[in-house]
Amino acid sequence: MSMKTGYLRYERMDGTVLGEEERTGNFQEFHLRLPEKQRREQAQRCMNCGVPFCQNGTMISGMASGCPLHNLVPEINGLVACGRLEEAYHRLSITHSFPEFTCRVCPALCEAACTCGVHDAPVATKENEKEVIEYAFEHGLVPDESPKVRTGKKVAVVGSGPSGLAAANLLNRRGHDVTVYERKDRIGGLLRYGIPNMKLDKSVIDRRIRLMEKAGIRFITGIDVGKDVPASALMKEYDSVILACGASNPRDIQVPGRDARGIFFAVDFLGMVTKKLLDTDFKEYPGELVEGKEVLVIGGGDTGNDCVGTCIRLGAKRIRQLEMMPKPPEGRLPSNPWPEWPRVLKVDYGQEEAIWKYGSDPRMYQTTVKEFVKDKQGHLKEAVLVSLRPERDEKSGRIRMIPEEGSEKKVKASLVLIAAGFLGCEHYVTDSFSISTDARTNVKTEPGNYLTTRKNVYTAGDMHRGQSLVVWAIAEGQNAARQVDEDLMGYSSL
Ligand SMILES: Cc1cc2nc3c(=O)[nH]c(=O)nc-3n(C[C@H](O)[C@H](O)[C@H](O)COP(=O)(O)OP(=O)(O)OC[C@H]3O[C@@H](n4cnc5c(N)ncnc54)[C@H](O)[C@@H]3O)c2cc1C
Repeated sequence: MSMKTGYLRYERMDGTVLGEEERTGNFQEFHLRLPEKQRREQAQRCMNCGVPFCQNGTMISGMASGCPLHNLVPEINGLVACGRLEEAYHRLSITHSFPEFTCRVCPALCEAACTCGVHDAPVATKENEKEVIEYAFEHGLVPDESPKVRTGKKVAVVGSGPSGLAAANLLNRRGHDVTVYERKDRIGGLLRYGIPNMKLDKSVIDRRIRLMEKAGIRFITGIDVGKDVPASALMKEYDSVILACGASNPRDIQVPGRDARGIFFAVDFLGMVTKKLLDTDFKEYPGELVEGKEVLVIGGGDTGNDCVGTCIRLGAKRIRQLEMMPKPPEGRLPSNPWPEWPRVLKVDYGQEEAIWKYGSDPRMYQTTVKEFVKDKQGHLKEAVLVSLRPERDEKSGRIRMIPEEGSEKKVKASLVLIAAGFLGCEHYVTDSFSISTDARTNVKTEPGNYLTTRKNVYTAGDMHRGQSLVVWAIAEGQNAARQVDEDLMGYSSL
């Protein structure tokens, strides 16, 4: 359907991104949409490949290549190219429950596997998806999906992140009575209290939740299952329970001085900031946490980048971001060919803003913290950093990062944010349900299956696969819902 030579005729063009000065003055989204004509041209760059890797979603060299939801990417691009956005929305809805989330936050596995990307810039599929779903909302095309018939079966979903929401949405559409339990004060999981507002405006979550409520899903916030309500009560009341509690056990940095005041886990910090913004309707910023401080972000990944962007908006004096691993190459190495996920240097929005504000990229590679130094009152004042060098472990063949003796140096630090990853799910939930976890403390199931070691108890999302991506969480939630439906009804039409 797309123009056959569009990829030769048009260069990739992305929507306008507001400049650093303008966007760092607030917490609003800063990616604008292209006008319709240019959007259609961008969709025409899709080559409608015979074998579309973009929608494959398979694991290659331990990393996903293409969309895990198997979105029908060339078909959708083709419809966008012709301006048939309503049909594109219906095509997208076949595979995807919440495109409005992924079109804002997904690292776009589809684009990394796009054939255009072998020699040129890939098709702008993520922005095309945004055009489709926002058009659908603007034109009242997104239904509330109330079921015509109720099955009489009851399902509890514990956790309201993207995996829990995706499972709840499909099961309710099928006619089961669904209740979502969330321990926080608002729905959304890390969509709400992890990913900052400038990346995903929280009104986008509220818009979806309103539709889900209208369709009959019950949301209960402020209830911590396993603490406020025992597992046995849920098992008694519901036919099935899906645990979608995330992988919220943060990896700590255990070095001398860790008890200094001024050290936070990144997710706690980001959650505090968003809560304050939402509680005050964006009228008050929690500047006191960051203003004028020397910030040290430990972790060079996406969460660390979100901390950098947030701290810039809150007036940090200076930001350093530590990354243990060596600096990645600027382009793909021969050992990392297309369509593998590209392991290349990425300069994300937070780093761009730091370069604009402080004059240099905040990342320090092959570096970690050896010690935190406190003042007399117990407040953090400095950190001792140490350089790392890669060394191959003889037995496992794996690369380990070894501290270089004599490379220690002290830097000022009055706020530390630990963004060093996660160590699986929290035990009180798995203990309460008496279900097993695997060696990585994720909930144990058979491969490709969502049933835990206990009958009628299922799992999905980060709690199942470990810290991952929104797109995977949605895929897991949808798949778990299909399995629950099949086990309840003997077959599934989902
Ligand atoms: C800071 C940060 C930024 C990220 N940015 C991106 C990004 O840009 N793009 C991307 O694709 N991915 C991103 N991710 C990863 C992504 O957010 C997660 O992979 C995804 O949210 C996992 O979804 P989930 O539903 O499995 O769990 P979560 O989103 O973690 O939701 C789990 C929910 O369960 C609730 N819960 C837990 N235990 C209980 C209980 N006992 N009772 C009741 N409720 C409970 C929690 O409060 C939480 O709300 C980011 C992660 C972080 C930490």
